[in-house]
Amino acid sequence: MIISGKELSAQLKSDMARQVAAFPEKYGRVPHLVVILVGEDPGSVSYVTGKAKASEVVGIRNTTIRKPEEITEEELLEIIARLNADDSVDGILVQLPLPRHISEERVIAAIDKSKDVDGFHPLNVAALWQKQECVLPCTPKGIIKLLKRAGVEMEGKRAVVIGRSNIVGLPVAKLLLNENATVTIAHSRTKNLAEVTREAEILVVAIGRPKFVTADMVGEGAVVIDVGVNRDPETGKLCGDVDYAAVEPKASVITPVPGGVGPMTICCLMENTIECFLRKQK
Ligand code: NAP
Repeated sequence: MIISGKELSAQLKSDMARQVAAFPEKYGRVPHLVVILVGEDPGSVSYVTGKAKASEVVGIRNTTIRKPEEITEEELLEIIARLNADDSVDGILVQLPLPRHISEERVIAAIDKSKDVDGFHPLNVAALWQKQECVLPCTPKGIIKLLKRAGVEMEGKRAVVIGRSNIVGLPVAKLLLNENATVTIAHSRTKNLAEVTREAEILVVAIGRPKFVTADMVGEGAVVIDVGVNRDPETGKLCGDVDYAAVEPKASVITPVPGGVGPMTICCLMENTIECFLRKQK
């Protein structure tokens, strides 16, 4: 079974659009997401454009603030402080990566936790690990939604996550643990990686290397979630971390790239913006 994140995200966005349409009458306005883009990296520009398009579909107000690469950290922090203080702003997202002279850590920590729609703020991360109310990071949240939609039972399953970044690997592992899977986190120092991954009933791959996971690394009938977004060095086309053509026949469930996890990430960003907005209405 191929799980289409494109299809599921379209359905979820249309459900959200119906929900948001009732907000002006109920709350006097719609949720407002502000995205800050520093520089003109084509990948970042395309992600920011995707976020603006999704906001339009869902009916969320979207403001994109574009700043040149040369902006100083202080100037960026001032913009964030202004947005934190602005009651009409519900979500603030700074598109990563930032230029080297700006500390991503300081910038993320400067965003008000209640407006941190990416779920990257240290207090949101801590709340996630302590099972307290928090904003869940978008990509891991989207992966769990995809698994649930595909009817994948996670409880008691052996899950292996390759990758331990703060953005994907670690929070995915935590969310799988919350679903009562038994989770192994593999990384670049893992010995005999194929032996570890072959044992996985659920394999989540978040490395950032084109077609890294080959058929011999996957057990028969495994559920394979490919988070990677890479360029195929041979064709120049988008591809995942999994050699899709080779692995698909072995997997019981698999996500394609593009059209798998990626659309779910943006969809969950919309959901997080609505959640942050609704928390303020209480
Ligand atoms: P990252 O911060 O670079 O982390 C990569 C992880 O992969 C690290 O933990 C690293 O291990 C591990 N790794 C690297 N080489 C390995 C190897 N040979 N064997 C085993 N593990 C290895 O990347 P990220 O931010 O997590 O992103 C991962 C991928 O997901 C990228 O392709 C990114 O573009 C994509 N992504 C997609 C979405 C989406 O919405 N679809 C969202 C976010 C990211 P160490 O910790 O030991 O270095």
